[in-house]
Amino acid sequence: MTAPYIVCKDVRKAFGEHEVLKGVSTQFHTGQVTTIIGASGSGKSTLLRAINRLEPHDSGSITIGGVEVTDDQRTLQRQRCEVGMVFQQFNLFGHLTVLDNLTLAPRRIQRLPRSQANDKAMQLLKRVGMQDHAHKYPWQLSGGQQQRVAIARALAMAPKVMLFDEPTSALDPEMVQEVLDVMRELARGGMTMIVVTHEMGFAREVADRVMFFDQGCIAHDAPPAEFFAHPASERIRSFLRRMS
Ligand code: ADP
Ligand code: MG
Repeated sequence: MTAPYIVCKDVRKAFGEHEVLKGVSTQFHTGQVTTIIGASGSGKSTLLRAINRLEPHDSGSITIGGVEVTDDQRTLQRQRCEVGMVFQQFNLFGHLTVLDNLTLAPRRIQRLPRSQANDKAMQLLKRVGMQDHAHKYPWQLSGGQQQRVAIARALAMAPKVMLFDEPTSALDPEMVQEVLDVMRELARGGMTMIVVTHEMGFAREVADRVMFFDQGCIAHDAPPAEFFAHPASERIRSFLRRMS
């Protein structure tokens, strides 16, 4: 096993009186695909958002490649290049074409010349099967297509890890598979991934590890074969029943 790439130690976060992360300690290794499952409100998104500081944690520590996640803006910008994020609601820039959505950050942050950024973007669009849509605007695309573009956009910064927060939950059922297929290919290519999802098939087939969140804690963490064959508690058993 490689050295852990992301390390969370006793991470806590409260919104007012409501403690949402109650001391989360875990590690994510390079090349590993982790799926996080659990009831709505259990803190899954908050953990992902804490990892790239969209939501600062109150105490404990998070390190990425040995460097602590803090408000230091220089470090944070570098870390956000290393950590790509894909949201449930795609979050594409509506006033930019697909191509410009992909090249914006590489041009502004990495200072890539336009032609180089365009070449790289076209390669990525090809990888997610969207090369024929480069000059369209997000509103001209289906939800599944938009999400594939959002994945390509995150990849444009050449991240070392990709965080996915319920990437298929906002999609019509017939579009879920095309997005999961892109994610499966990424995993096959060795990308380090942390995926919050309700897609148990994906967790079962693609993940190295399934983590169950319950009320702000990691209640169980196991390889999928073990996780699904021997649910560790009645709560997990009933959660899995509801999902199937
Ligand atoms: P999950 O992703 O597992 O559904 P979240 O991490 O989004 O859970 O949220 C955990 C809890 O924290 C929920 O009760 C949610 O309402 C609350 N919460 C999340 N973000 C905020 C916020 N910005 N302000 C107040 N409460 C929040
Ligand atoms: Mg969530």
